[in-house]
Amino acid sequence: MSIGPVQETSATFVGMPAFPEAAREALANTQQRTNLRNATHTIRAKRASVVAEVPEWEALRVAGAQSKDEALHHLGDYLEHLEASLVANGAVVHWARDADEANRIVIDIARSKEVDEVVKVKSMATQEIELNEALEAAGINAWETDLAELIVQLGHDRPSHILVPAIHRNRTEIRDIFIREMGKVGRPAPDDLTDDPAGLAEAARVHLREKFLRAKVAVSGANFAIADTGTLVVVESEGNGRMCLTLPETLISVVGIEKVLPTWEDLGPMLQLLPRSSTGERMNPYTTMWSGVHEGDGPQEVHVILLDNGRSHVLADSVGRQALRCIRCSACLNVCPVYERTGGHAYGSVYPGPIGAILNPQLRGTASEIDQSLPYASSLCGACFDACPVRINIPELLVQLRGTVAQQGGHRAESAAMKAAAWVLSDPKRLAVAQKGATTAGRLIGGRTIRSVPGLGAWTDARDLPTPPKETFRQWWVREHDGRDGDGQARGRADGIPGSEGGLPDSDGDER
Ligand code: SF4
Repeated sequence: MSIGPVQETSATFVGMPAFPEAAREALANTQQRTNLRNATHTIRAKRASVVAEVPEWEALRVAGAQSKDEALHHLGDYLEHLEASLVANGAVVHWARDADEANRIVIDIARSKEVDEVVKVKSMATQEIELNEALEAAGINAWETDLAELIVQLGHDRPSHILVPAIHRNRTEIRDIFIREMGKVGRPAPDDLTDDPAGLAEAARVHLREKFLRAKVAVSGANFAIADTGTLVVVESEGNGRMCLTLPETLISVVGIEKVLPTWEDLGPMLQLLPRSSTGERMNPYTTMWSGVHEGDGPQEVHVILLDNGRSHVLADSVGRQALRCIRCSACLNVCPVYERTGGHAYGSVYPGPIGAILNPQLRGTASEIDQSLPYASSLCGACFDACPVRINIPELLVQLRGTVAQQGGHRAESAAMKAAAWVLSDPKRLAVAQKGATTAGRLIGGRTIRSVPGLGAWTDARDLPTPPKETFRQWWVREHDGRDGDGQARGRADGIPGSEGGLPDSDGDER
C-alpha cells in the first residue's frame, strides 16, 4: 500500500493534532461526552430493535455487500454505463480527479448562472472536497439546508458524525446558536425561542424556506447512482433535501465514483439496510430519485460530477477496497466505544469513527501524523464489523493499516517490540528461554498485579499488565502427564521443556 499523500488533507483539518492528543482534549469535555453517550445509545437501541425485526438481515447484508463488490470489481464499465444513461436522460456528466477539479466545475457552473448563492442538501462528498470554502472564496454563499448541517454551519463548527453532524451539541446550545447567528445570514430566530425541539425545527424551517424559494442553483450528493437507468438517489429524513432537489432551476450533484450500483434491483436491499442502520427506522421519510431532466418537472439543467479524489487508489488495494462499499450509515460510529467517548472531531476529517479510521488513511495515505494515528484509534472489539450493513471488515483493515504504519517506522517503539517478538517466536530455543524467564519472573512476583513498568508508562498508566504464570503450558503438560508429551512419548525434562533433549519441534511442528 502506498503511503501517499493521495488526497490532500482538507484545509479545515490541517494542523489538527494526531488522534491521541485530540482524543485527550475531547475526553476532558464532559458535556460533549454526555451528549454523545445519550445520542449514540438512543440510536443504537433503535437500530438494534428494527434490525431484530428482520429475520433475513444477514442475507440482506450479504446481498448489499455483493452488489457493491460487483460494482467495484467492474467499476470502469459501470461508470461508463452510468455516464451513458445519464447523458441519455439529459444530464451533463463531468469527471473530477480531485477536490480542486470538482470545486472548479461547480464554481464555473454557478458563475455561468450568475448566482451568488446556492442551497445544499447534506453531502459528505462536498464536505470532503470543502466545496463551501471554495465557493465562499469565489464569492458564492453555500447555504446548508439539512438541520444538523445548518447548526454546524451557523455555529462555525465542524461536523462530528456522519449522519448527525451536530451530535455533540445539545438543545440549549442549538437555541443559543440560532438566536446568535440566524439573523446575520437571513431570517432571524424568534426572540422567545426556547430549546423545545418543535420550536427549534420551526425556526430552522422558516429561516430556510426563503432560501429555498430564492435559490436558482442547488448542490447535492447522492447515496446511490444506478448505472442501468441513470438514476441518482438521495435518502433523507427532513424533506429539505427534496426541496433542494426539485425547486431550483439547476442541480449539480457531486457523486463519489464508489456510489454506483449496477442495476435498479440492487437498490432494493440498500433501501432496507440503510434506514435501519442509520436512523433506526424501518423506512426513511424521504427517498428522492431523479433520472436526468424532465420538461416542466424539477430542475431543467442537471449536472453530475463523478469524483475520484483518492478512490481509485483505494480500489487498487485488494483488501482495502472493501471500505468503498460504505453507504455512510454511521452504524459503526454509534456502536464504537472509542467514538462514543472522543466524538468525531478527534479523527481530523469529515469521516470520523471506525470508517474514518480506515478510510482517511487510505484516501490520504499514511504520511501525516494524524493519518498514522487513526488505525490505532480502536480497541479492535469488532462491534463495527457486526453492525456494518455491507459487512466491511473494519478490524481487518485496521490491522492491515497498522502494519503499513509500522513498516514505514511510524511507531518506533511498537515496531521494535514487534521485531523483538518475531525474533523470539521464530526460534523454539529462544521461545523456551523467554518462557523460562517469564515464569521465573512470575514466581518472583508471586501473583501480584503489575501496575507500572519503567519505560512502559504509556501502557501501564491505563492498564494493568497480566502477571506471568508460574510455569509454562509445556511444563504444566509434562507435570500433569507424568513426563510424557501429547504422543505418549517420554520426553526430556531439562528446563521442564518437552523435547529439549530429543530434538525441538521447528516452527511447523516437525522434529528436526
Ligand atoms: S463502514 Fe459500514 S457501518 Fe460504518 S458507515 Fe460505512 S456502511 Fe455504515
